[in-house]
Amino acid sequence: MKHPLSLRITSVDTYDVRFPTSRELDGSDAMNPDPDYSAAYVVLRTDTGLEGHGFTFTIGRGNEICKAAIDALTPFVLEAPLDDLGEFARRLTHDSQIRWLGPEKGVVHLAAAALINAAWDLAAKAAGKPVWQLLADMSPQEIVELVDWRYLSDALTPDEALAILEAAQTGKQERIALLKEKGYPAYTTSPGWLGYSDEKLTRLAREAVADGYTQIKLKVGQDLQDDVRRMRLAREVVGDDIRVAVDANQRWDVDAAVEWMTALAPYDPWWIEEPTSPDDVLGHAEIRRRLQPAGIKVATGEHVQNRVIFKQLLQADAVDFVQIDSARVAGVNENVAILLLAAKFGKPVCPHAGGVGLCELVQHLSMFDFVAVSGSLQDRVIEYVDHLHEHFVDPVVIRDGAYVVPTAPGFSATMLPSTLSRFSYPDGPEWA
Ligand SMILES: [Mg+2]
Repeated sequence: MKHPLSLRITSVDTYDVRFPTSRELDGSDAMNPDPDYSAAYVVLRTDTGLEGHGFTFTIGRGNEICKAAIDALTPFVLEAPLDDLGEFARRLTHDSQIRWLGPEKGVVHLAAAALINAAWDLAAKAAGKPVWQLLADMSPQEIVELVDWRYLSDALTPDEALAILEAAQTGKQERIALLKEKGYPAYTTSPGWLGYSDEKLTRLAREAVADGYTQIKLKVGQDLQDDVRRMRLAREVVGDDIRVAVDANQRWDVDAAVEWMTALAPYDPWWIEEPTSPDDVLGHAEIRRRLQPAGIKVATGEHVQNRVIFKQLLQADAVDFVQIDSARVAGVNENVAILLLAAKFGKPVCPHAGGVGLCELVQHLSMFDFVAVSGSLQDRVIEYVDHLHEHFVDPVVIRDGAYVVPTAPGFSATMLPSTLSRFSYPDGPEWA
């Protein structure tokens, strides 16, 4: 992207911010029983006073390792060009020595996500636009240049991507108008945490329908009889017209996934999310093939480490839904690659969100996808969880089961200064 950004990054501040969510079992699932939602948070400071804010998400212990990895990448940020965000992102993911720690995966990739997202926040603030609009206003060629094309050409070439983006130029203004009128459809995971009682589950499921959601999600995978009962209760409360997705958070081997989901099939689950390891492309393909007769779809992505694994999941026809995460792969740029791959293979993108700040970020990517890439809302929903939004300067707004289009310049990533100090770990007042 070329734009007249004359500002220069002069310093990078990093923060270890943790919220004690495990006290209420918010966020509890079959693999993560006690998460403390956390952010390795970064502020890019510039010579003009404008700041870029970004973060990656963790669930507590180890957040300090992400912060250290961000610090290790800081020299590359100070040298990288802000007027070319494609090159900016490549500088952060291709240092030969740091790359040895894990080529485009793991903690260093999470750190790159925080920094690249912060650069997009900065660029969008400088342009006076929300990130979704900054992306949507770019030309197809500029969007293609954001992507690191290495390892993708057997599935998608830059020319094919350009054709997808040029086709999506038609009707762009109508889709923007539709988004502004109706928002982007959401689904809610709030009723479904494993640590919640049946009473809390049914109460929140009933509220979700009343609030206008057409899809909810339950965590599964700890105890089959419990899951059959919870799924039956949820189905009774929401009726037949609401989609009920389930999420195993990587709990099973292939056979166990098929057996477990077959037991839940009478209650018509919409998708099974993360049935097994996020690295197991062929395992997902096998689960999908064996569950197809029952009409159960497969979704994954929140722990998929990079665009290469997404490419393979699509090539192997292993998933029905592509679940991008705003802060696991290398930020906006790598997610643009994944959106283009999903469009090529005709698979809906239904982002992972929740945690802290993931809803705030990923709404921009889905809105860009609708306006300028896939051009479709068919079977597309963004996850929503009603936690921790009060810590953001520009929090998401949900109306009638949909994300209201953000209008403030930036990536909606900026946390309140009072939050950064109070929840700072281990010395903030919340933890000391
Ligand atoms: Mg999940």
